[in-house]
Amino acid sequence: MRLVKTIRELKQELEPIRRSGVTVGFVPTMGYLHEGHLSLMRKSVEECGFTVVSIFVNPTQFGPGEDYDRYPRDLERDLSMCESVGVDLVFAPGVSEMYEPDACTRVTVSGLTQNLCGRSRPGHFDGVTTVVCKLFNMVRPDRAYFGQKDAQQVAVVRRMVRDLNIPVEVREMPTVREPDGLAMSSRNVYLSPDQRRAALSLHRSLRTAADMIEKGERSAAKIRERMIDIILSSGLAELDYVEIVDADSLRNIDTLKGEVLIAVAVKFGQTRLIDNIKVVVH
Ligand code: AMP
Repeated sequence: MRLVKTIRELKQELEPIRRSGVTVGFVPTMGYLHEGHLSLMRKSVEECGFTVVSIFVNPTQFGPGEDYDRYPRDLERDLSMCESVGVDLVFAPGVSEMYEPDACTRVTVSGLTQNLCGRSRPGHFDGVTTVVCKLFNMVRPDRAYFGQKDAQQVAVVRRMVRDLNIPVEVREMPTVREPDGLAMSSRNVYLSPDQRRAALSLHRSLRTAADMIEKGERSAAKIRERMIDIILSSGLAELDYVEIVDADSLRNIDTLKGEVLIAVAVKFGQTRLIDNIKVVVH
């Protein structure tokens, strides 16, 4: 496995690979890797002849007062994890390598970014789409792998790829969870033991929603109410949102029908966690 930190080296490494016609898979990450990230890498290694992982804590997707400075970082550990699953190339640029000081171009996906995390984190998705577009142009992958954990991110990236005719296939992989159901996240390390216990309410609320739907409930208001109860009764939770939206448009719905995304965002102290499930309702 090779590690490169500059765009020039990345191009040098990738040129012969592309010329040989090998399929290039790409997994963009912010590092501090866990099984969720590794599941994307394993899929890429399985489906593609060459797998590139980027590790870049992208400052432009963090708002003022968010956790950019204290976001956990451990490149050595990340590299050995990448190596253990057969990644071929890691691209770990610094901020100045990624952004020209006078950069003045941004990629904005409108509409889809207005709801859910877009509402609570203004500007976040512009940061995401801009950096992902730049990374796609640098790596020029055939396939790129994203996690359902960040469901709105996948929807937004898919729309960008479609609207800008970026020649990459976006693949969405299921959320990997801890044995007790907590969705894996680099941010879980921030949680105190009490917050960690309270954070299980996210998954519990989503499971309850799935149960209610299974039993025939179709009212978004009733399901939301029950979910909010479960999350708030965990004690330490500060609710950001519990939303039930159409999985494609990400618009709120009153009556469940078709593919539905149920998404939650909750703060425990300074730590903001998200989780979701998708359900097809007939
Ligand atoms: P991040 O490093 O948080 O930017 O995440 C990089 C990629 O890993 C994104 O596509 C995430 O959706 C994905 N990811 C993060 N956590 C999980 C998880 N628990 N299960 C599956 N994919 C995940």
